[in-house]
Amino acid sequence: MSYIDELAAAIGKEKVLVDPSERFVYGADWSPRTPDEFMPPDVVVLPRTTKDIQRVIKVAYERGVPVTAGGGLTGMLGGAVAIYGGIYIDMTTMNSVVEVDAKNQTVRVQAGATLQEVNDAVHPYDLWLPHQPESKWVSTVGAAIACDNDSTFGVRYGKILSCLLSAEVVTGTGEAIELGHRKAHFTSSGYKLMDLLAGSEGTLGVITEATLKLEPIPATRRVDMLVFPRMGAAVDYLSRLLKAGLCIEAAHINCKRRLKFYTHSYRQKHGKDPDIPAWAEALLAIAFAGDTDVVDSQRGFALKIAKEFEAQLVEEREIVDSWWASKYTLEFEPFKQKWPDSQKEKKFGAADPGVPVGRLEEFYHKFVEVAEKHRLEIIGMNAYLEHPNSIGFSLSCAVYVDYRSADEVQRFREFHDELSKLAVAFEGTMSTFMSDTYQKAPYLGVEHGASLEYMRQVKRLFDPKGILNPGKKFPRQVGK
Ligand SMILES: Cc1cc2nc3c(=O)[nH]c(=O)nc-3n(C[C@H](O)[C@H](O)[C@H](O)COP(=O)(O)OP(=O)(O)OC[C@H]3O[C@@H](n4cnc5c(N)ncnc54)[C@H](O)[C@@H]3O)c2cc1C
Repeated sequence: MSYIDELAAAIGKEKVLVDPSERFVYGADWSPRTPDEFMPPDVVVLPRTTKDIQRVIKVAYERGVPVTAGGGLTGMLGGAVAIYGGIYIDMTTMNSVVEVDAKNQTVRVQAGATLQEVNDAVHPYDLWLPHQPESKWVSTVGAAIACDNDSTFGVRYGKILSCLLSAEVVTGTGEAIELGHRKAHFTSSGYKLMDLLAGSEGTLGVITEATLKLEPIPATRRVDMLVFPRMGAAVDYLSRLLKAGLCIEAAHINCKRRLKFYTHSYRQKHGKDPDIPAWAEALLAIAFAGDTDVVDSQRGFALKIAKEFEAQLVEEREIVDSWWASKYTLEFEPFKQKWPDSQKEKKFGAADPGVPVGRLEEFYHKFVEVAEKHRLEIIGMNAYLEHPNSIGFSLSCAVYVDYRSADEVQRFREFHDELSKLAVAFEGTMSTFMSDTYQKAPYLGVEHGASLEYMRQVKRLFDPKGILNPGKKFPRQVGK
């Protein structure tokens, strides 16, 4: 009996896809690649329950077959692509809301639910899950944990671990275990094994359910945009606002070039680019949220001291609203281009390094230098504040990539690698929201040194046969 027949016997043949035309769409995510770089898995399974996933992994464990879990397939570095074939677990069929506990402000969901589906379910209780990447309409809860992605509201609510209370995971032997601290907000008991899931890319286990902490929906939100002559001035300004005790809900620093990427609706309406002063090199989008009088007073203070930092408020509301709509409210469907005028021929590709607070501007210039060296057209850099009430960036260093040119795709990969390693030399990190995938796997030691061996040992503990998403984080070992 083939392992695929065993899978059908274990979970039902209606949940097992073998037809090449059905498997084809699972062969790529949103990472830059040439049209022929499709790597469809050998078989796709559509689980409904944790038990289904346990049965699948038990078959895979016995037979030594690779298993890759995926959600919306919008990862930007090939994390969910089954590069060694085998079984692909499509988690989107596990998208139920298990429990909304309004009194304790928690929700329990299956990991294939999208972040938007979670929010739709809790909205009637006047609660929301503030962990929101732009791709919330397609990004699944499991993937948000597995690639430790970032959020529009990170400066207030942090990244996924700030709202993850507990998670169920099926390990590489098929065992289901619960990690975390139930509905308590934190713990000092045991080792924090749940935290290992953040950024694990499905290499330690398949996340099947999660309990997430919710927040009350704020009554009002005000979004503004300010321009600065330098990026460093925007950083100093934010630092001053936090020192003053303000509670910022969202803060994103964009280099000037990047604005164009987000103002598609403005250009469509007016047939021109937004009018920004020629001297402006950086733009800060900033939001305050809460009760109206509190928001007004915080915003008032922020705008009052802006001049001390050479900043100027963007008065034309349409520019700000257009930016916010593109960033936050635009309905986004997978494989429908989000920024239609910018993505017809060339597509978006990015590196996601992190650098220390004081070196943002210096790193920005390096990004431009490296992109130009590799002859890539620059989209620009965003610095998203992702640490609650302090300045800690995740960076998106973005360029256009022409997928029709194998040479350009290769140059993009070299650009990505060079910038990732440079970030470590800047006393930073190679990745802040995409994780490592197979792209960074060959040189992960540059960042982690001797601790990489401890990581391998952790991987072995969860996945003794190395079947879970092989090739991601660590190059696959010979014979496996
Ligand atoms: C237009 C666009 C906008 C984006 N905006 C943002 C943004 O604002 N911020 C940001 O951080 N990212 C952004 N991204 C990148 C991407 O959408 C997110 O990182 C998102 O979390 C990926 O979710 P997904 O469900 O599509 O994951 P997938 O691509 O399907 O998977 C991502 C990784 O998670 C693993 N995985 C998935 N489900 C599980 C599971 N249940 N258990 C274990 N492992 C699992 C996969 O193996 C893979 O390694 C954007 C992408 C696009 C295309």
